[in-house]
Amino acid sequence: MTDGELYARHRAVMPAWLALYYREPLELTHGAGRHVWDASGKRYLDFFGGILTTMTAHALPEVTEAVSAQAGRILHTSTLYLDRHMVELAERIAALSGIPDARVFFTTSGTEANDAALLLATTYRRSNQVLAMRNSYHGRSFSAVGVTGNSVWSPTSLSPLQTLYVHGGVRSRGPYAHLSDKDFTAACVADLTDVLGQTYGNVAALIAEPVQGVGGFTAPPDGLYAAFREVLAERGILWITDEVQTGWGRTGDHFWGWQAHAENGPPDLLTFAKGIGNGMSVGGVVARAEIMNCLEANSISTFGGSPVTMAAGLANLTYLLEHDLQGNARRVGGLLLERLRAAAAPLAVVREVRGRGLMLGVELVGRDGSPSPHAASLVLEHAREAGLLIGKGGREGNALRIAPPLSLTVEEAEEGADILEQALREAQYTIGGKDGP
Ligand code: PMP
Repeated sequence: MTDGELYARHRAVMPAWLALYYREPLELTHGAGRHVWDASGKRYLDFFGGILTTMTAHALPEVTEAVSAQAGRILHTSTLYLDRHMVELAERIAALSGIPDARVFFTTSGTEANDAALLLATTYRRSNQVLAMRNSYHGRSFSAVGVTGNSVWSPTSLSPLQTLYVHGGVRSRGPYAHLSDKDFTAACVADLTDVLGQTYGNVAALIAEPVQGVGGFTAPPDGLYAAFREVLAERGILWITDEVQTGWGRTGDHFWGWQAHAENGPPDLLTFAKGIGNGMSVGGVVARAEIMNCLEANSISTFGGSPVTMAAGLANLTYLLEHDLQGNARRVGGLLLERLRAAAAPLAVVREVRGRGLMLGVELVGRDGSPSPHAASLVLEHAREAGLLIGKGGREGNALRIAPPLSLTVEEAEEGADILEQALREAQYTIGGKDGP
């Protein structure tokens, strides 16, 4: 069967809204470390890790062994029964979360984790009014799209929630883009206060990604959510931090993204998914006991917390902590950021290189300085040709997203940076940039 035939069959059975990356679809068949191979045997350095799901490394022996050992015993039992892996992983995540008296509920995805967080927050506060950030992404369920401030990913205007969107998630766009960090924060707080003044006063929660993932790896200045928290706490409004992309040391300086905004205390709820299972479906929500226990009816996720995924999560988390991959993300990510900034400096096609740790974004613009999704696609294709996988995002699809497994070595960072530099130059040549050829 040819690739074309497989693609035709894929299109016949999958919904039209499930887009594939690349002009020619890419079928990955195996991986090891920071590398993956396609069906033709071509090897790629992986700078996207299946959208940040490969947290430590592909085919990490510790995780593979834990999964196969558990699969050999029993694959699934249901959370109706006690499972030691689940208890242990919950204890460890509760302790790491920074939330006092924390409880954990496991799900199978980030969407379901956010859905659970919104269910808890709205029930606890007895209100379906919530605040979300412009340009946000929180998943694809009915409630998650209802707090997703990005029309590309929010296909319906109907929502079970009454959502009010506030400024702050993106620095590069909007009326406050030109302000200093301090003034930007003050303007966003004023906007939040103004929005709250238009409500009848019983908003349940603010949900926010510390660094917007799908939104293009954009972050507010440090401390913005702490400033928000002051306003929210006065009104009893809960802070839900969506750590689906930013958790587990990804940002280098912090274990969780919220820790860049910690002055006024920890969040009330925290959601996680993606990386913790290293490819197995593990998600969840962490909350203070009084919030977690506010549901009066029963609730269960059949597969959430299943033993085989919990065994994977435990082995993966243990590896991450024992090998200080947060520190590695800080060091190697810092180096990669420097390399990319140097490569981008002479190229008008690059508007900004940003990020921290191993969560780096490169924003591309056309000749007139407007967002260029075309340039992003060109870089993606060039990089693929040269054996490097990266992601793209941003509302206009013009941001490159770089998020390798956290065990990335210095040599691999250099190799990826060389390929990216060349790919950016080629895009500059094709697009021209502001003052290109
Ligand atoms: N929140 C954020 C910040 C995400 O990036 C994503 C996935 N891209 C989700 C939630 C949804 O996670 P999932 O795809 O596992 O449902």
